[in-house]
Amino acid sequence: MTFEVKIGNVKIGGKNPIAIQSMTNTNTADVKSTVAQVKELVDAGSELVRMTVPNDEGAKAVKDIKKTLLNDGYDVPIIGDFHYNGHILLKKFPDCAESLDKFRINPGNVGFGEARDDNFKAFVDLAVEYDKPVRIGVNGGSLDQTVLAKMMDEDLKRSEKERFGNNVVFYKAMVESAFQSAEMAVNYGLSKNKIVLSVKISDVPMMIAAYRELASKGDYALHVGVTEGGVGSKGIVTNAAGLSVLLLEGIGNTIRVSMTFNPEEPRSREVVVAQEIVQVLGLRSFSPLVTSCPGCGRTTTNTYRNLAFEVDAYLKKMTPVWKKKGFKGVEKMKVSVMGCIVNGPGEAKHSSIGISLPGTGEAPSCPVIADGKQIATIQGDYKELSKKFEAMIDNYVETHYR
Ligand code: SF4
Repeated sequence: MTFEVKIGNVKIGGKNPIAIQSMTNTNTADVKSTVAQVKELVDAGSELVRMTVPNDEGAKAVKDIKKTLLNDGYDVPIIGDFHYNGHILLKKFPDCAESLDKFRINPGNVGFGEARDDNFKAFVDLAVEYDKPVRIGVNGGSLDQTVLAKMMDEDLKRSEKERFGNNVVFYKAMVESAFQSAEMAVNYGLSKNKIVLSVKISDVPMMIAAYRELASKGDYALHVGVTEGGVGSKGIVTNAAGLSVLLLEGIGNTIRVSMTFNPEEPRSREVVVAQEIVQVLGLRSFSPLVTSCPGCGRTTTNTYRNLAFEVDAYLKKMTPVWKKKGFKGVEKMKVSVMGCIVNGPGEAKHSSIGISLPGTGEAPSCPVIADGKQIATIQGDYKELSKKFEAMIDNYVETHYR
């Protein structure tokens, strides 16, 4: 089991559930926009929020961001992401250091040679002084070249048969960089339960191999994720593929989905994707999910597809309302919307409540099944069906999650 790390009012590692985190993309110096986006991320379910602190203006804003969030009832841990100048900013702006709940440092971006070690030590000294945890986050795009060059040289000295090759050396160098930095931080006085490690790579097999090796080397809490997952479905698949393998092996204490979402999409989409990955793996539930079939030649209209989307949107809209009303366990509810009788009633039986629509040529009625038993048969177009079915879902929630 990994060390338990306390980040503000959230604990990760140890026996704690996998925590969802996200990152803002506003200009941190813009307090109003950053506060608004943190709230959006938290409302979607983010339990930790990271923001970049790139310069004096950003560092100055952190105190006001934290204060405004607390005044508005958002006691979410805020993590400051530092590159190159973290040791300078945290020293120059004590309010920033005080207001943040965790610091993130990338050992590949703290300088070179002796300056690197001095800057890293200065950063860790500040974490110790302010009693803050630190994520030592190594990234494939900014790996410490000194560690990589040394390990590449060592590999070349091996016989051809024993040689690891560039990809393996690369991920091993990332692990080495993270682990060496953690050991240095411990030597500088940071407790092991104040350290979180990550080794993010955009290549999924390499990322999995790197985290497996990192997990086998020690008991540090791990922030798990790919980096730079890409756009659209490829981005979601990359994140899901990498995270799923590791999380099912018990590797990972907090996760972030890292990809390029469409600019039209809300920033909080990354939170929803992260939650859904964890939930479909059966590791933690956040909100009721819809099970629906892809459709086939037995469904020649879009009725069941429209209904599936309507129901999904309804569940997303109602989950915070149900939780606010105190319906405990509602996030575990499973709802199915299926296209025909081939798999519809069967799938509905595995759900809390489900509906099976008529396929082409079937009688125009839709059995609704709750807890494995048919409770009604309803009819109509998808608008009418969604109204009736949603009322049944409401009733199911009222009667099952009190
Ligand atoms: S449940 Fe029916 S409509 Fe859906 S994919 Fe299966 S056979 Fe096709």
